[in-house]
This record gives sequence, structure tokens and C-alpha cells, in this order.
Amino acid sequence: MAAKKETNEVKQLKEKLFIKRKNTAKLFTDAEQKRADKFCDGYKLFLDAAKTEREAVLWAVKECERAGFMLFKAGVKYKAGDKIYTVNRGKSVITAVIGREGLDKGVNLLASHIDSPRLDLKQRPLYEADELAYFKTHYYGGIKKYQWTAVPLALHGVVIKSDMSEVKINIGEDDSDPVFAITDLLPHLAEEQYKRPSNKLIKGEELNILIGSRPVREDEGGDLVKLAVMKILNRKYGITEADFLSAELEAVPAHKARDIGFDRSFIGAYGQDDRVCAYTTLKALTDLKKIPRKTAVAVLTDKEEVGSDGNTGLKSVYLKHFLLDLAEMQGVKLRTLLSNSKCLSADVNVAFDPTFPDVCEKLNTAYMNYGVCVTKYTGSRGKSSTSDASAEFTGEIRKLLDDNKIPWQTGELGKVDLGGGGTVAMFLANLNIDTIDVGVPVFSMHSPLEITAKNDVYSAYKAFGVFINM
Ligand code: MN
Ligand code: MN
Repeated sequence: MAAKKETNEVKQLKEKLFIKRKNTAKLFTDAEQKRADKFCDGYKLFLDAAKTEREAVLWAVKECERAGFMLFKAGVKYKAGDKIYTVNRGKSVITAVIGREGLDKGVNLLASHIDSPRLDLKQRPLYEADELAYFKTHYYGGIKKYQWTAVPLALHGVVIKSDMSEVKINIGEDDSDPVFAITDLLPHLAEEQYKRPSNKLIKGEELNILIGSRPVREDEGGDLVKLAVMKILNRKYGITEADFLSAELEAVPAHKARDIGFDRSFIGAYGQDDRVCAYTTLKALTDLKKIPRKTAVAVLTDKEEVGSDGNTGLKSVYLKHFLLDLAEMQGVKLRTLLSNSKCLSADVNVAFDPTFPDVCEKLNTAYMNYGVCVTKYTGSRGKSSTSDASAEFTGEIRKLLDDNKIPWQTGELGKVDLGGGGTVAMFLANLNIDTIDVGVPVFSMHSPLEITAKNDVYSAYKAFGVFINM
């Protein structure tokens, strides 16, 4: 027997009492969809130009200067509407627009990170084995190591020479550049490799990057391929082997950001965790049309992927000191500014993946195309290492997004006790700032090809825009 049709009364009750969710592809008008797609064209250019934290800072500074931001000087009395930025050691950047209200009312803060998982060269990286030259690496952040073999890699970073001069390296991005690669075992001979636990399918010390094979033409002596490679590096960059000792060189996937799908609804690129939020938060500030009520601040930080330690990470006092400088400018106590501030910790979350449905709990996970994801708590094992936003602040953000018709959803990083993860939210909340995680759902997080939905990226941009106008 066929199920009876729902009565009108039940339909109305459901409409009134149940949570409402709608796919943004159905929700957006044609014009809105066009705006979202166009916004993401700019985002893709940013992804290609900024594959490391240093490059993201350079891009942010350029973008800020284009939008009329001035380099911040402590002690200067900035007035409402003034736009400022400051850079911490070339690896993190803070931008701000001074609001109409005093800083005793707090700031609206957006925090994202611009470091992404990658392979860092070791301090002594260069070696030769069986007439082949390689770089040794130490991976940065949480990666599935096997994903980084057999993909073209580019090399980005800086070398500080013995005379303290700096050499910038960026090779593998131009179509005429060579790229580099980590080899993997052919399946024919992988019988023993397959028996390894999958997290050791490729071991840390097997992430060796192939960089050359033609030796110097000489019959005597060893290391002639290494010497030939060093000769090329010396000619091109003026460096010697010892210069690697004081270098930061990062191997990253060489491919460019691309549309994914026949409908081009997704973006596939390296480093979208968390440059998707770096781009959308910074854009929210540089696109401000009128002076915001409260001072708006966006910090693009380093070191999130390795626990936020170090002077360019958010456990450092650099952000707090910037806010102190702002507070002192108006004779306000820092603690007053902090306790009245609100923060969106802008970072990505997992998107429900039908190929791997078991790791997520369907009611409380984010879905592709359902808008920006609000995550009340992160952490793991009984909410360990999370700030867990209060019901009051979550309510405030809920109302803000609903009132402004921003497509949004909630998310949680996987099933309880299955894993978990953290963001910078707790370090900001520890400053006594109301903080909640808001970001974009991602497929294949921390892989060389992370995937986001364009409509979610655009929804995040809109959400950050209304937040700084709160
Ligand atoms: Mn992240
Ligand atoms: Mn991450």
C-alpha cells in the first residue's frame, strides 16, 4: 500500500518547527551565481600566486596597498576610516580598518592561516645516490605521505647567504620551468610495501625529491651529479651547499588551481586550507564600502598546521601587541578592548564525502554547496583542546547570518572519538575574546589537490563581510 500523502497540517508544522536547509545552487539567482563564480576567478589567481606563507603575505600587502591601506606605525593617532596593515617577519600580516566607535567597544576580528602542509627541505638536503641527485625533506603539518609521491613539485622559498643577502627561489610554476618529484615503487614490486601499515606506505625518510642525473664530465672521484646540480644552483642563484643551512625551501604541488566538474562548481587546488579563508577575510576588509561601526581586523597567521608555536604563529604575542598599540592610541586598556572583541576563527572544516560516509555523523557534518560552515567546537576526545563557543555568541552569529540571508550550515570534524582537529580559535578565546570557527567545507584536506565548492567560498566571503559590519 502506498504511503498516505502528508496532510497540510503536518506540512505546515514541519515548515514552522524544523530546521531549514537549502542547496545554494538552488538558492542563488542567476545573477548571484554569476557573482559567486566571478569571485572565485580572483580566488584562483590568488591560490596560484601564494603557495607559501611568505608569498601570501606579499600578495596581501599588494592587495592592501591597492586598496589604500597604510603601513601601521605605533604611536600614530589613526582616525575612523583609516586603513592600516603590518607584517610580522614576512610570514604573517595584520590588517585593520579603524571603526567609528572607540576601541573600548572592542574589535571585530577575523583570523585565518596562510601556512599549508608541504615538504620542507632539510638543513643539509643535497645528496647523491647511485648517480642520481636528491633533496632530503622533512614534512610540515599533517600529510598522508603517499599522496606526495608521483606528483610534480615546485620549490618555493628563501636562502640567506653567508653575507646575509637573500635569494628568493620560485621554480616549477612557469610552464617553461622544470619540476621535481618523489618516486614511488611500481605495483609489480610493491608486494612488501603493501604489507606496511598504510601510514607507513611511504616513510618520512622516503620523501626524497629527485632533482638531477647528469654528472660533471670527469672520470675520477664521486658525487659528480651532486656537483653538477650544485654548479647549476650556483650559476642561477649564486649559492653554495652551505647556504642551504640558512634557508627555508618548501616543496609544494606544482599544479595550478582549476575548476572541477562539468558544471565547474568546484575549485581544485593546493593549499586551500586555509588560504580560502585568508582570501575571503582579507577581501572582506579591502572591499569595505563604508566605515565600519567597530574597528575591523584581519590577521593572516603562520604556523597553524604545526600547532601555532613560534613568533609568527598565533600563540605568539604579535597580535596581542598590535591590539595593545591600537588600544593605547585611544587611551583604552588592552583588557577592555579584548573582553569586548568578537572573533571569527576562519578555517576550513571537513565536507561530507559520500565515498567515505563512515567518518562523519550525517546530522552534524558540513555539506558541499550548503554555504559557509559554523563550527561551535573543534578538538577531540571529549572536546579536548577547543574553546567551544558559548550559546550566546553562537546565537549572535546565527542571527547575524540569518538576518543577512547568508547561506550557512553547521559542521563537526568527524564522528566522536574518531579523530578530530583544532584551529587557532582557542588561542584567541584564551585572550578573553568571544570566538567561533567559521569556514569553508573541504574535500581531500591536506592533500595536494584540496577541493572546495565555489558557492561555499562566496558564502564565506559574504559572511565575513557582514561580520565586520556588525
Ligand atoms: Mn586550517
Ligand atoms: Mn589544516
